[in-house]
Formats: sequence, structure tokens, C-alpha cells
Amino acid sequence: MGSVRNLELGSSQCNHCSTRCQLRISEPDSKKYGAGQLLKLKLDFHVHTTASSDAHTRPDELVPRCKERDLDGLAITDHNVLAREVPSELLIIPGIEVSSRDGHIIGLGVSDAVPRGLSADETILQIKRLGGVSIVVHPYDFLRSALNPEILTTMPDAIEVINSASMLHSITWKRARTFAEKRRLPQTAGSDSHIPETIGKAYTIVDVESRNVASVLDAIRNGQVAPEGRPYHFSDRIRKIIR
Ligand SMILES: [Zn+2]
Ligand SMILES: [Zn+2]
Repeated sequence: MGSVRNLELGSSQCNHCSTRCQLRISEPDSKKYGAGQLLKLKLDFHVHTTASSDAHTRPDELVPRCKERDLDGLAITDHNVLAREVPSELLIIPGIEVSSRDGHIIGLGVSDAVPRGLSADETILQIKRLGGVSIVVHPYDFLRSALNPEILTTMPDAIEVINSASMLHSITWKRARTFAEKRRLPQTAGSDSHIPETIGKAYTIVDVESRNVASVLDAIRNGQVAPEGRPYHFSDRIRKIIR
């Protein structure tokens, strides 16, 4: 079982992330290849744990699953609650999936929780104020609280163009990608996993200068990201229901 530590909210922030993120920057930068060279990381930016009422993955299951799936890490993005139990191994990014009144938006690396029920524009601005990166997730999706990004007057840092849980993904993923290309926004992918078995079904390849949270957030902002992944199998959906 991987070790889990509780992180306290800090009162000060760096330029790009919270003190909480700084606390996570503890791993040796063993794979940095020298000045000017970037390191490629494989990260699932959308994972739920038992802090979400509809999810079954315990925080201590995250690191073993990452290792099984050859992931360098992931983002914990529970519904309307900021991750407080963050495994100390690998690169685990504290995040939150906010229920804006217009649809779901993820904040990565925020220093505090973002209230639900704000407009999408206000939610994006609040994530920015809290030092985080905003990602519009599963846009255009059917049967879920999904944002139509065309209503936005404030652009997010990125658009999630691959979400493994999307229904009719051949339609929604394409629409998301078209919007992101038109607005020249970075494109990310995430599994939207609610059970351990689906972690890593989608992931983002991120080019970073260093193996830490601040570098990952900067890489998203700078568009040094490439989305990859596939949709759930029917059996994945059944497995979640019968848990
Ligand atoms: Zn969602
Ligand atoms: Zn989600």
C-alpha cells in the first residue's frame, strides 16, 4: 500500500501554484536530460477517488495503478472537493472537478476549493485566482453536465478532447478538438475514472522541464501537451455500476 499524507493548505503561493504544490515537489529530478531538453511524462488528468460519492477508488490504490499502467502520475479531480489525501509517491496533482452552473470544469493545482454553482466564466477566473490551471472537461457530452464552450467569454487554459467516459465519443471528441483547434487552446485527455480498473484509459503526454507539479501546470498553459486514449468498454461501465 502506498503511503498517504495529509497536506495542509499553505498561506503563501508561488507564481504558478499553491504551497501545497510546492510540498509535492520532493522527488529527485532523476530523468532530466540536461539544459534545454524536455522530459516526456504520461499523466491521467482526470481521476476520481472515494471523496466523490459516485467513485470507488481509494487514494492508496492510485500509485499501484499508475505503476501498472506505466503512468508517471495523475490528477485527483473529485467532484467539488479538493484532494486532501495525496499519495507522496509519483507525481500526483491535487485538483477538483467543479460543477459550474454551465457544466463541469477542472481546476488543477488550485490552492483552495472553488465553489460550485458559479457561471463557467466565473469558475475559470476563480481557478486562475487560486493559481490553478482550468480545463473544460467532456465538453458537448450527452447525459452529463457538460459545457458548450462556445458560450464562454473567458477561455480556459485547456480543453479535454478525450474523455474515456464520453457517450457517443466519435461525435463529442471531434467537436471538442475542433473547438480547441479553432481557439488554439491546448488539448488534454483524461480517463474520468471512478474505479481503479479504468485509470490510464486516457492520458496526456506532457513535455516538462522538471518532474514536478509547477512544471506540469506550466506545460499545460504553454500547450506542451498531446492527448491520447480510448473510450471505456461496455464492461468498464458495467463494472462501475455493480460495485
Ligand atoms: Zn464531469
Ligand atoms: Zn469527472
